[in-house]
Amino acid sequence: MRIAVVTLFPEMFSAVTDFGVSGRALQQGLVELAYWNPRQFASDRHQTVDDRPYGGGPGMVMLADPLRQAIAAAKQWATAEGEMPAQVIYLSPQGHPLGQSAVVELAAPLAATRPERRGLVLLAGRYEGVDERLLETEVDAEWSIGDYVLSGGELAAMVVIDAVIRLLPGALGHADSAAQDSFSDGLLDCPHYTRPECYRGRSVPPVLLSGDHGRIRRWRRQQALGRTWLRRPDLLEKLTLDEEQQELLAE
Ligand code: SAM
Repeated sequence: MRIAVVTLFPEMFSAVTDFGVSGRALQQGLVELAYWNPRQFASDRHQTVDDRPYGGGPGMVMLADPLRQAIAAAKQWATAEGEMPAQVIYLSPQGHPLGQSAVVELAAPLAATRPERRGLVLLAGRYEGVDERLLETEVDAEWSIGDYVLSGGELAAMVVIDAVIRLLPGALGHADSAAQDSFSDGLLDCPHYTRPECYRGRSVPPVLLSGDHGRIRRWRRQQALGRTWLRRPDLLEKLTLDEEQQELLAE
């Protein structure tokens, strides 16, 4: 599985390549990551990748052509023989809001077997953004990591990479970990506790010490429902609760 990033700052990606779950997955070869810097495709000796906006105004705009060439090279690398052409994604504050269901959709073709397998090319913008014509012709989808503006798409691309990698088979120590996380079943996760049993006067809920797995499972489901109801009622509105969940919510 291959993820290519088109970026002016490949060094930033050590945050995902050198640490934690994503770092381990890359070391184990579960996924490969490579970078294409549009500067390498600039046509002048200054390696210019931006220019002033038509119509005037502040800031600079990324030139279409170095990006087009960088995307083509990245796409070729990310598309293995017999696979579908890699999907090109532009990280943008104007894109679809990225949620866990979108992350699952992005991870699925990466983890699929041939011929359904599909690599990813992530385009990180800078400055005021990218010449619109490049987006119209070379990009398959735009995703936003939230309603705020970052200085560049690298952090957003790293968010996508980290969230996607932890869903790939073998990336997490325990196969069920991702399935129990917030959003995987549409709810927030339940609270977690570890040693000591009593910390600064606050005790672990007794049910978790009971050894009764049925009660523990019900308690966790109820907590997840309760916190979702309190903190994110919008999530509950989108869900159809099963019988046990309706009962737990009513208790
Ligand atoms: N002028 C653009 C606008 O207002 O829509 C913002 C450009 S921003 C300063 C530079 C780059 O950061 C963008 O091209 C995009 O790649 C990235 N970026 C900024 N905010 C983002 C967000 N919320 N999600 C994803 N990418 C973002």
